[in-house]
Amino acid sequence: MSTLLEVNDLKTYFYTTSGIVPSVDGVSFSLESGQTTALVGESGCGKSVTSFSIMQLVNAPGKIVGGEILFKGKDLTELSDREMRKIRGNEISMIFQEPLTSLNPILKIGDQLDEILLLHQTLSKKEAKNKSVEMLKKVGIPRAEHVYDMHPHELSGGMRQRVMIAMALSCNPSLLIADEPTTALDVTIQAQILRLMKNLKKEFETSILLITHDLGVVAELADKVIVMYAGQVVEEADVMSLYAEPKHPYTQGLIQSTPKIDSEVDTLNSIQGNVPTPSNKPSGCYFHPRCPFAMDICKSQMPELKTNEQNGNKVRCWLHESHQEG
Ligand code: SF4
Repeated sequence: MSTLLEVNDLKTYFYTTSGIVPSVDGVSFSLESGQTTALVGESGCGKSVTSFSIMQLVNAPGKIVGGEILFKGKDLTELSDREMRKIRGNEISMIFQEPLTSLNPILKIGDQLDEILLLHQTLSKKEAKNKSVEMLKKVGIPRAEHVYDMHPHELSGGMRQRVMIAMALSCNPSLLIADEPTTALDVTIQAQILRLMKNLKKEFETSILLITHDLGVVAELADKVIVMYAGQVVEEADVMSLYAEPKHPYTQGLIQSTPKIDSEVDTLNSIQGNVPTPSNKPSGCYFHPRCPFAMDICKSQMPELKTNEQNGNKVRCWLHESHQEG
């Protein structure tokens, strides 16, 4: 399995009037070809800023101030705007939580699909239309020829998300970044979209970087999971190990907060307190004010992200320091 994307020590800061806000604070991870890696955490943990950094879509006052983003061995942080435009929508594409904000409300669905194909591929208008209709069919849109001539507001939320997926996959990208792709949808439609993404991943052999707060979605789609907290990676593991034996207390809290269909208990265990704001992080381990296992050392010293030599999984927690070193 080859590495498609490698993020090394990424730092993305926001320069606000009240000071420097380190939203992404030294994040490293990799994504292998054909795999799905999930970036998980509550809102404000830095996962979306990480995905925008990969796409080189961080706008002022935000700025990537350190690290590298290697895509097929090329550092995206060193590319010009023109070079990046060629990659975006073509080799790397993105789908968002609310497709209405990314679809142009005044353009017909077909025109928006054709536009992407014509921008990145050498096709005639007719060939682009044929390919657009074919993509709409592939994502399970009934009466695709008819939908091709419709406007976004004429479609349901689930159908709009299918259109977004068709647009994202139309140029057969190597990497699809899916930012909370099912959060705005109701549960039945969520399941349909997840099934669709799973099938399309196989058919198109696309690698997926999945950004989500929802561990139910992760269990459905991901091979590897990166758990983020306050701009840092706190745990990285293959999906089976993460659910069977979560190491970091934050991951344990997230899993306990996920509703289970077979649970007889009505209440969810949620993690107490809130994610600290990036401009006001606590000393030591950023999770210590919320951690039920916090020790004295946790309040003053930040643990490193340590790799377990046996299985390659990683955790940042003083509870596992001696164990990880052995
Ligand atoms: Fe909890 Fe300490 Fe581990 Fe942080 S380092 S997660 S406070 S036990």
